[in-house]
Formats: sequence, structure tokens, C-alpha cells
Amino acid sequence: MQTFQQYIGGAFEDAGETFESLDPATGKPWAQMPAASAADVDRAVRAAEAAFFSSEWAGMTATQRGKLLMRLADLVAENAPRLAELETRDTGKIIRETSAQIAYVAEYYRYYAGLADKIEGAHLPIDKQDMEVWLRREPVGVVAAIVPWNSQLFLSAVKIGPALAAGCTVVLKVSEEGPAPMLEFARIFDQAGFPPGVLNVITGGPEAGAALTSHASVAHVAFTGGPETARHIVRNSAENLASTSLELGGKSPFIVFDDADLESAVNAQVSGIFAATGQSCVAGSRLVIQKGIKEAFLARLKEKAEAAVTGAPQDMATEVGPLCTLKQRDHAVRLIKASVQAGAKVITGGAAPDGKGFYFPPTVLDCSDAPEAPCLSTEFFGPVLSVVAFETEAQALEIANSTAFGLASGVFTQNLTRAHRMIRGIRAGIVWVNTYRAVSPIAPFGGHGLSGHGREGGLQAALDYTKVKAVWLRTSDDPIPDPFVMR
Ligand code: NAD
Repeated sequence: MQTFQQYIGGAFEDAGETFESLDPATGKPWAQMPAASAADVDRAVRAAEAAFFSSEWAGMTATQRGKLLMRLADLVAENAPRLAELETRDTGKIIRETSAQIAYVAEYYRYYAGLADKIEGAHLPIDKQDMEVWLRREPVGVVAAIVPWNSQLFLSAVKIGPALAAGCTVVLKVSEEGPAPMLEFARIFDQAGFPPGVLNVITGGPEAGAALTSHASVAHVAFTGGPETARHIVRNSAENLASTSLELGGKSPFIVFDDADLESAVNAQVSGIFAATGQSCVAGSRLVIQKGIKEAFLARLKEKAEAAVTGAPQDMATEVGPLCTLKQRDHAVRLIKASVQAGAKVITGGAAPDGKGFYFPPTVLDCSDAPEAPCLSTEFFGPVLSVVAFETEAQALEIANSTAFGLASGVFTQNLTRAHRMIRGIRAGIVWVNTYRAVSPIAPFGGHGLSGHGREGGLQAALDYTKVKAVWLRTSDDPIPDPFVMR
């Protein structure tokens, strides 16, 4: 069985305890992973803190930091095929997606490499004659980054990239499900030439996560995961009063009007819910469709869902692979059962197949007569689409916004003025019009409500890893006047 090590203070090491990682395609263990203890977490944070104050890192110019990030980007691009193979092996995400996605992750590091020396302070037109006042943007300190198992190279790049560009140091705790690609990423990071301790990579479950997010030396927690875990993170941050950014789940509406290009909308819906086997936080998991085209749309979607090639995730021809964990599949089975009891109709899929691995078929549930079905409000994180019909634009908007989440949304229409009204009315961090599931390092990403707060990607994300220091410099040579009056 393959063995992986954790990365602390620039050194690779075994942890005191290990756990087995399962191959989701077979359900069998394939590798031994290090389980970070509370003491390991503490050492990792101390290494990050020492690096933060070290002359090697703190004394580096922003341009030099950018060059290191650029080197890291090149290394990620070079090693993308190997990282993709590992992610596919350990999480079951299909190779077709991981190979394209990880190659693109290099662009995130490039973007933040270029941004490192463009994070500027400001000079203030202060209202006092004898003062010069300016703002320095300084790194917040040690960042605890916590990511789930899906798209973890991507989800960690949007944290590590801006944090290092800003001059922070990072302890990354990767999920206990499928940590292999990130532990391998640590080896690639190590080759880029950063000083030791600038990035530390550990893995482990809630205990390691709790020890990290409540650690006294952590200044900011950047978290991606589910809302329930986010509540723990926020409670943990009551210990160190760290700032938090939370990228959580979604129940994103995918709205199709009767003037939309149907074939294109059906394809986008397939990409929105069946790609990555639905294990995507931006999954367009609620189809909100105009009544007149519902039957035609669902017939075409059913055809495509049933034609999707299900198979081994390592096979380039596979379109739908296994879910990452058995827990994930059991959750889908339970939620479908409860939704059917509430009146949802299964259009296709709906049951776990026999055989090895954690497979689950593309599933469509028609909830047009079951507005209370739990599948409309609860995230599956799997290839399950819930459908509701509407008649008017106002109804479409009301249904779209009737969610506690607010991450992504899709609008399909040829009507330009209607598109603009929908863009304005939808409460979500992303609106895709006549497209879906498009991302870029240049565009911010994040949500409202139970989808969390803070934005990843884009310029602002790097600024969020800085704090402003106001500097006051007196330019007068006269003695300071009346000391009992505030200046
Ligand atoms: P999860 O919340 O169970 O776990 C996420 C991470 O938190 C893991 O590393 C886990 O070990 C850690 N963790 C668990 N308990 C903790 C605690 N008490 N303290 C600190 N850390 C703790 O999420 P998951 O099931 O692995 O991932 C799926 C969820 O992630 C879904 O809700 C999905 O929508 C969300 N997600 C969001 C985005 C986004 O960018 N908005 C992207 C991908 C996934």
C-alpha cells in the first residue's frame, strides 16, 4: 500500500497515527495517510509563525514572492497529470475533469504571482497641516486553510495563492477523505524554493481541524466545506478571534425560460449537475423551468442522463464516476426516499446500483407537485436534480430565491431585458447567463446566507489577506502643542 507523509516546517515526516484511504471505485483501502495529532497541528502553526516573522520570508520583496509563486505555477502545470491521477484515485473524480482542472489551477498561482507586487497602500489627504498619513497593507499573519475533498487543488490554490502573495504563511489541513493529491502537492511546493514553514500541509479529521482553527497563533481561517462544519469553525474562532472566510454549499437554481436555446440549456444542465458526479458546490441542483417547455426539456435531459457513460474514473471515456464516500451515497439514498414520500416523482435514476464502489446514477426528481420535498432545500452533493415549474418571471425569481443558500445561479433566455432583470433580482454570488460552471482566477467566487461569506479569486481575495496599518508622521519641527488636547 502506498504511504503519504505530512509536511511541516519544510520537512516531510510520518505522523504518529495513520489511517487508510479508500479507493471510491472499489471501496477498498489503497494508501496510508498521516493523521495529524493536536501536537502536530501545534508544530505546524509554530513553523508557519516562525516563517512569518523570519527574515527569509518577511524580508523578501513582494516581487520576489511573486517570482516564487510563478515557479510554483510552472511546477503545478508540469506535474498536473500526476496530481490528476492521484486525485482521481483517491476521490473518484473522473480523470477527464481532474486533468483539465488541475492544469488550470496553475493559472490561479500565475494570477496571484502577478498580483503580489500590485497590492498597494494609499496616501491620505489628511485634514491636518503638519502631518503625512499613509496606509500600509500588511499580511494578516498565519492562515489556517481548511478544504474538503472535492476540487481540493483548486480550493486550496484560491487560498494559498492570495495568502502568499500578500505575505502570509499557511497551514493547510486537507480533508481526511482523499488527501493524496494535496500531500503530493506539498512535494511540488517544496521544489519551488519557498523558505521552510511558509506552507505546511497536514491531514486529519474534525479533531485536527478544531485544534488548528482555535490555535492562538492563527490570524485568519479560510474554510471551504459544509455549513454545519462552518458553525464549528466560527465557534472555534471565538478562542483566537481569528477572522474567517467561509465558502460553503449551495442549492443553486438553474432557470430556463421558454425562449432559451433548449439544446444548449440541456447541455449546461448536464454540466451543472452530472459533471463531477454532482459533487460541486455550484451544482445547478434545482431546475426551475417554464411550464410550456418542461416536458420537452425533461425528455431530452433524461435521454442524456441515461446515455452518460458511467465507469472507472481513470478511464478518459467515463463521464460519471463514483461518489467520494459511502456516507455521501447513503445521504443521497435517504434524501431521495424522503422526497418521494413527500410527492417527488423519479424521472430517471434514483437507486444505488449493485456492485463494488460508491456509484450513484444521474437522477432527476420532478417536484412540481411536491413543493415541500426536502430535495428542494437540502444539498445532495451528488448527481441528483430536483425540478420545479413556473409560469411567470416573478414566480421564477421567487422560486430561485426561496433557499437558505445563495452561491451560484444560471439563467437561460434569449431576452436581454429579462436577463438583466433576473441578474438584478437573484440573490447569489454568481449569475451565469446562457452558460454554467465557468470559473477564472480573475473572477471572485463566494456566496450569501448558508453559502458563506468572503470571496475567493480576483483582486479582492488578496486584499482580504492583508490588514491596513495607518502611519502618522509629523512634519513640523515645532514642539508638540497642548498635550491635553487630542491632535
Ligand atoms: P465538511 O464540512 O464535512 O469538511 C470540510 C473540511 O472541514 C474537512 O477538511 C474536514 O476535515 C474539516 N472539518 C470537519 N470538522 C471540523 C471541525 N470541527 N473543525 C475544523 N475543521 C473541520 O465538508 P465535505 O463533506 O468534505 O465537503 C462537502 C461540502 O463542501 C459541501 O457542503 C459543499 O457544498 C462544500 N463545498 C463548498 C465549496 C465552495 O467553494 N463554496 C466548494 C466545494 C465544496
